[in-house]
Amino acid sequence: MQSLVNRSDRVWLAYGVAVLAIGAAYLVRSALDPWLGNRSPFLAFTIPILLAAQFLGRGPAILSALLSLGIGVAQFSELGAPEEALVHLATFAIVCVGIIVLAQVIDRARREKDLQQHGLERREQHLRSILETVTDAMIVIDERGGIRSFSAAAEKMFGYSESEILNENISALMPSPDRELHDSYLERYLETGVRKMIGIGRVTTARHRDGSTFPIDLHVGEAKIGDERVFTGFVRDLTERQQTEMRLHDLQSELAHVARVSEMGTFATSIAHELNQPLTAIANYVETSEELLREPDKERLEIVREAMRECANQSVRAGQIVRRLRDFISRGETERRIESLARVVNEASALALIGAGERGVEVEVKLDPNVDGVLIDRIQIQQVILNLVRNAIEAMAESQVRRLRIASRSAPDGLVEVTIEDSGPGLPPELADQLFQPFVSTKAAGMGLGLSICHTIVNSHGGRIWSTPSRLGGTAFHFTLVDTTGTEDAPD
Ligand code: ADP
Repeated sequence: MQSLVNRSDRVWLAYGVAVLAIGAAYLVRSALDPWLGNRSPFLAFTIPILLAAQFLGRGPAILSALLSLGIGVAQFSELGAPEEALVHLATFAIVCVGIIVLAQVIDRARREKDLQQHGLERREQHLRSILETVTDAMIVIDERGGIRSFSAAAEKMFGYSESEILNENISALMPSPDRELHDSYLERYLETGVRKMIGIGRVTTARHRDGSTFPIDLHVGEAKIGDERVFTGFVRDLTERQQTEMRLHDLQSELAHVARVSEMGTFATSIAHELNQPLTAIANYVETSEELLREPDKERLEIVREAMRECANQSVRAGQIVRRLRDFISRGETERRIESLARVVNEASALALIGAGERGVEVEVKLDPNVDGVLIDRIQIQQVILNLVRNAIEAMAESQVRRLRIASRSAPDGLVEVTIEDSGPGLPPELADQLFQPFVSTKAAGMGLGLSICHTIVNSHGGRIWSTPSRLGGTAFHFTLVDTTGTEDAPD
């Protein structure tokens, strides 16, 4: 309508309608003359004046009033006695003024409201245009976790359109265990007011519409709109940044690896040399003993016994040398602290899962909150998780279904058991007895050190590592750590 009729046309139209309405009122009043006579001569006119004031604006209302008064004056002689006619006219004039003043007030209020509305719309448009250009996704939720607003960047990041996801629960965008627990996090915050997330940035994992997960940096703010509390989350996808970091990290570790391999070559030569000594000594003792035992007598048997003792000593020495090799493999300063298992697992799996989204791996993390405190060297245990998750993802490269599950639970003797399992093809049977030995690999470019390092690290933490077939169809690796939950130093 606005495009067809311009503003001045609309003004003329309003005046035209006002004139027509007064004409119609005049006709109606004339038609009622036989019944009404001189009574209520202006009654019929007040209705079009009121309607004009309400719907057509002040100008047409004044015109209607003036026209009605004009008709009244023209018919003055027919309105009965002059005093009575004057009273009618004066009353009607006062009513008209009242109506017009009212129209003016309504008009002004309406215009102010229009202006405000217009201002609000412009501000909202401005805000929207800013938000649409920001690459971070913005999601607003209410106190029950229902999604109220979902920015264009969020649509792109999560694969849902705003209309699909509006009013759904925010937990739809989270992987387990947050998916199941988010409502309780929110309830706890509303009850206690203790902030664990709001106002504190955090690196965590999000869930795309296709079920894949990706690392994000999440910042949540809180605001009150009227009586209602809303939470605004700004989400940054870290996939690309972490991929770059990982590429750098990979390059660095490749360099370190090359250095390590050549270092290991030197080390192996010296180890071979060192090992040679006890082994040669053992061989000599055994050979001599064999000769002595051909014609044994008391004296010779005593020498054989002595030789056996020496053999045992030399094998202990050989064992120590081999242990040094293992220590070398997992070398590094260790610094043990009580850490939150959830934090350690989340960070390590977020790192290991970079790129896993592209490979369509569905990840489930199910950690028992009752056993969260562990006494560990965080970096070393993250290395273990990283190795196991990477191995699982690599094992599933050719699988149709790619599921990865990371879980923790309480184990006997004050331990926590962590399980990382996959839906891959399972372990090659030939590895069964030597899985945790160094240099055992079925991969073309594998060093075969990952699991042996995991073994050394877990053992040095007072735990154990082992594998079983997984319920998901592939392999489950389990390891235990010392549980410190409930002790005074437990992490919060
Ligand atoms: P690498 O990865 O360099 O081969 P590892 O010690 O980490 O060294 O692994 C040794 C071998 O164990 C691998 O080559 C692979 O054959 C097997 N393996 C490890 N994890 C898994 C798994 N989750 N599923 C199937 N096989 C596995």
